[in-house]
Amino acid sequence: MDSLLARVEMALINSEFRSMAITDSMTRVANKGTFIDQLQYHIALFDRSKHPLSLAMMDIDNFKAYNDNFGHLEGDYVIKKAADFYSKHLRATDLFARYGGEEFGIIMPETNFENALATFQRLHWAFKKVVFNPKEGVTRGITFSAGISTLDVDSYGKLTPKIDLGSSTEREEMANRMIVSADKGLYDVKKMGRNNCCPMNYLIPGSTAP
Ligand code: GH3
Ligand code: MG
Ligand code: MG
Repeated sequence: MDSLLARVEMALINSEFRSMAITDSMTRVANKGTFIDQLQYHIALFDRSKHPLSLAMMDIDNFKAYNDNFGHLEGDYVIKKAADFYSKHLRATDLFARYGGEEFGIIMPETNFENALATFQRLHWAFKKVVFNPKEGVTRGITFSAGISTLDVDSYGKLTPKIDLGSSTEREEMANRMIVSADKGLYDVKKMGRNNCCPMNYLIPGSTAP
C-alpha cells in the first residue's frame, strides 16, 4: 500500500514538474520554450500542408510607467489579466504564450496575414475596454503594440537564401526569422506611437515600412 501511495505521489510530482516545464508559473499560459517548440512544429506542418501559418508578437505599451506609478503587484495583475483574456478569446487551435516580461506571442495555424491582423485587432479593441483600477480613484486601460509575420506559399517562395523545411535546424532558422520579422513590425509600431499592429508582413523580403 505504501509503495502504491509513493507511486501515486511520484506521478503527481512528475505531472506537476511537466506542467511547470511547459507553462509560465505566473500566468499559467505556455512559456517561451513551449512557444518555440510549437512554432517549429507548426512550421513542419506547413512544409506538408502549405497552409498559411501566422505569428504575432505583442508588447504592453508604456508598462514601465504603470509599474513605477502603481507598483509591481499592480503590474503583475495586468500581466495575469491580459494572459487570461487573450488565451480565452483565441481559437482553441491558436497558442498564446508569455514570451518574457510583458511580451507575448500568438501562434495562429491555418491563418493568413489578413485574418491574423483582424484577429489581433478584434482582441486588442476588446482588451482596451477592460478597466483597471490600480489605485483608489484611478482607472486605466492597457494597450499593446504588435507585429505579425505569416509563412505562406508566397513568403516562403521569396526567401533568400532558400530554407529547407525538411531539416530541423532549418526549421529552427525559419522560426527565428518569423519571430524577428514580427518583432520588426512591433518596433515600427512602437516608433509610430504604439497601440496598434503593423500592417506589413516583414517575412516577405523587400517589404518596407508603411
Ligand atoms: P514600450 O511601450 O516601449 O514597450 O515601453 P515599456 O515601458 O512597456 O517598455 P520597457 O521594455 O522599457 O519596459 C518593460 C517593463 O515591463 C519593465 C518592467 O518593469 C516591466 N515588467 C516586465 N516583466 C514584468 C513582470 O513580470 N511584472 C511586472 N509588474 N512588470 C514587469
Ligand atoms: Mg517589452
Ligand atoms: Mg512594453
